[in-house]
Amino acid sequence: MSYLTKNYNRKKISFKYGKGSFLYSTNGKKYLDFVQGIAVNSLGHAHPKLINAINKQSRKLWHVSNAFQIPEGEILAKKLAKKTFADYVMFQNSGAEATEAAIKVARRFFYSIGKPKKNRILCIKNSFHGRTLAAIYASGSKKMTEGFGPKVTGFDHFDFGNHESLKKKITKNTAAIMVETIMGEGGIKVIPDWCLRELRKICNKKNILLILDEVQCGIGRSGDFFAFEKSKVKPDIVPIAKGIGGGFPIGAVLMNKKVASGMTAGTHGSTFGGNPLAMTVGNSVMDIISNKKFLKNVKSISEYFLTNLIKIQNEYPNIIKEIRGRGLLIGIQLKTDQAKFIKKLMENNLLTIRAAENVVRILPPLNVKKNEINQSLKIIKKVCSELN
Ligand SMILES: *Cc1c(COP(=O)(O)O)cnc(C)c1O
Repeated sequence: MSYLTKNYNRKKISFKYGKGSFLYSTNGKKYLDFVQGIAVNSLGHAHPKLINAINKQSRKLWHVSNAFQIPEGEILAKKLAKKTFADYVMFQNSGAEATEAAIKVARRFFYSIGKPKKNRILCIKNSFHGRTLAAIYASGSKKMTEGFGPKVTGFDHFDFGNHESLKKKITKNTAAIMVETIMGEGGIKVIPDWCLRELRKICNKKNILLILDEVQCGIGRSGDFFAFEKSKVKPDIVPIAKGIGGGFPIGAVLMNKKVASGMTAGTHGSTFGGNPLAMTVGNSVMDIISNKKFLKNVKSISEYFLTNLIKIQNEYPNIIKEIRGRGLLIGIQLKTDQAKFIKKLMENNLLTIRAAENVVRILPPLNVKKNEINQSLKIIKKVCSELN
């Protein structure tokens, strides 16, 4: 028997090791891994530079308290600030911690300027911001909150794409609007650039902070370092996590100077957040991904992948309803049974993962090779033809 709780619906497969885009199972099979720990292993498995970084640092220093200076964290924060809108960075260990800390930053800002009642956070209904108590109530999802009451109050919700519903839900007590720039778990739904610009305008007009949750779509996943960059919108607060550690758990909240002013000494903390081992790995990931050439490559391989997926869609309109996404955050919305489709892909040695709205999520490492994309296209096409 397993002594692990049963809160996951695990596939009956385990792995011995990974290399780049591939995973090798304990029963001797080789899989093309287009899950990558759900957009976490941004550079694939066992990247030599990351191995080297963690090896070297592991012999020097793993952990010290945030009661002391941590130079490795100073360096990563500086890199993130130089590359993005941010003036300040606060390190955490996971996505949910980062989104919760983002909420704390927003509330604390209004508190610090004498508006403690301006504390409500407006989110998209059935979005995803993590599994901690406040984060599940931020999602506005019945399924995720069921049985976990009492309700954490302070969250309001509007429907994706419904601008009237958004405007109706704003009150004078709305502190922040928090949305994912590209909804991941929600089914790879991209918020269009013009909507982001409208959101920014509304926030400016009503003195509301804009939080863009880039835990999944950030750190190069969209082909830009942040998915919102293309829109030219500047958010106030951005939680990140998944991709920045390349497989090592790191979370962070990026913010501008204005809102950072509320986070005075003692207002927030984390025992593990930003320790030297984590920061060293984060620095290595950052050096590789923030390179312009690297991101250009993500864009061009994405274009190739999407073009060919649309060709398959056109060939099998009874199977595929829509190809969604940007960069290497891709969704295939199916007309057919999702679980069966994913199982068949797996039987053909391609690993993918579900998302809402009957979408199969495809998350290759950002350094995926073209022949690996071709391999996956062949498998997807084969499964489509078998189910047709
Ligand atoms: C995964 C995810 C989170 C939660 O991250 P965890 O590390 O699982 O806590 C939050 N927001 C978004 C958009 C995510 O995709």
